[in-house]
Amino acid sequence: MRIKINGTHFPLETLGPGRRLGVWFQGCPLACAGCMSRHTWAAEGGRESSVRELLDLWREALDRGADGLTVSGGEPLEQAPALAGFLAGAALLRSVAERAGGARRGPRADFLVYTGYEQDEWDPPRLRALRHADAVVAGRFRIAEPTALVWRGSANQRLLPRTALGRARYAPHLRRRVTGPAVQVVVEAGREPGEAPAAHLMGVPARGELTFYERWLGERGLRLRERSWRP
Ligand code: SF4
Repeated sequence: MRIKINGTHFPLETLGPGRRLGVWFQGCPLACAGCMSRHTWAAEGGRESSVRELLDLWREALDRGADGLTVSGGEPLEQAPALAGFLAGAALLRSVAERAGGARRGPRADFLVYTGYEQDEWDPPRLRALRHADAVVAGRFRIAEPTALVWRGSANQRLLPRTALGRARYAPHLRRRVTGPAVQVVVEAGREPGEAPAAHLMGVPARGELTFYERWLGERGLRLRERSWRP
């Protein structure tokens, strides 16, 4: 099954607890003002991937001790059948890894999904896609409602545990405020010969922080690969 994605990264440390595999879906029709991920809006952007390719990445991440999987975007629920297939496969691989690793494997890896859709917008295909999600961060990004709550971009967004694992893992974070770095800077080599390295920002920056990072990177001779919060 095909999936349009914008990118992947391991280890992601700023969207959910621990070291995680991050998968960013491509395509979002919700167009929140101030969205930092405008480069993920166009459904025809990003690149073609497949459930199989993403499951291979998840297997590798589990082998490297991943604490969880975070799916963001873009809008993952715009590709609900593909998301359902990916999370079902990821749950299967998680069980296989647990059986193979026994007690050495440590706590179970959790699945966290970001969506701009509110709960009352989750139609049956979207609900099926979230069946294996242990927790969901739900709601549009509202630039006029800043928050210090960890892993959320605006005060209206809700962190919703959906399984026993999700309740256990996320209970300490429901009202927790950001105390450490909320943004992870990842520097990648140029994609073309002779192209300078560029940086990605991963996480949920506070208001004004994107401009700070842009300047900070510029002082170190680095550019942001996406400066997409600006229209
Ligand atoms: S904040 Fe999320 S839901 Fe809103 S436009 Fe950006 S990617 Fe879409």
